[in-house]
Amino acid sequence: MNQFPPASGFVRSLLEIINDYPTGDPVELLGLVAEILAEDPDPGVRAGQLLALYSTSFWAVHRLRDQRVYDSLLAAAALAEETLDTCEEDHPGYAELDNLERIVRWIPAIENPEVATAAGFTGRDEIALFSCPAWLRTMAREAMEVLLARRPVEFGMPDFSLLTPAYVVDGALDVIGLTVNVGSFPEDAPSQIASLWAAQRLLGDVPQSEVLPLTAVVCSSLVGQEATAPPAVPTYLREVLTQVATDSACAHGESHDVDPDSWLAGVQYLYKPMRFDDDEPVDEDLWHCPGQRAAMIRTALQLSAPLER
Ligand SMILES: [Zn+2]
Ligand SMILES: [Zn+2]
Repeated sequence: MNQFPPASGFVRSLLEIINDYPTGDPVELLGLVAEILAEDPDPGVRAGQLLALYSTSFWAVHRLRDQRVYDSLLAAAALAEETLDTCEEDHPGYAELDNLERIVRWIPAIENPEVATAAGFTGRDEIALFSCPAWLRTMAREAMEVLLARRPVEFGMPDFSLLTPAYVVDGALDVIGLTVNVGSFPEDAPSQIASLWAAQRLLGDVPQSEVLPLTAVVCSSLVGQEATAPPAVPTYLREVLTQVATDSACAHGESHDVDPDSWLAGVQYLYKPMRFDDDEPVDEDLWHCPGQRAAMIRTALQLSAPLER
């Protein structure tokens, strides 16, 4: 008996892509996968499409030359990574994430419980694992890492506005969520993508209250990048900071905070919903002065200069 649910035409097309002999139109197929994921469909469909995106991302970095579709895959992976839940359950079994064919063959059963039932696969470990948000998150993260790492510098940056609902809640920027995400592991793809989103938002027409936290996030991320970062990331962050930099002489002279380690903590303090006695306070006048932003930008550009390639 076949150990997989029956393969659909979609699965066969994915298998062809993975094995590098696509017979149909792989660009159109992958564009569709990204489109469905961007609409944030029901969990089953999202899981199936995410498995498709993950499995084909290795092909995409080498073969996909359609910049628009490449970028939509990257943005869709970032959206999934940002919005999927964590999971505390202890699932039996272990999914081999490098066995791409195996992953793809489970898609019909993951997407549709009826397919799984009809094939007698309801209790399978694979279904539990590939439906688990934490596993899917890992796969989304890996896909965005490979796609971001190989994204050519010369094409600028994809539009990450898809991520806005993750950071702007009820019309207000989630300063704490954004700074925590960017500050945790600045050398990892989720943090890098969050900082790229912040940089793009900074270029737009944003409310005045967002300018300081967005600037701090971009500056802090740029300084936190290591030499191994995908070159497109520091290059783009530097470009944006250079564009938004202003000349601002102010009465504070040299007293603005130029220590990168304190920037995220500073805005977190200012934007906290509640303050506690053991919080490390910052000088609010100093931080809300345009001179603070100018000082951060100047410092970040200076410190990151050797990263420019
Ligand atoms: Zn789980
Ligand atoms: Zn000042």
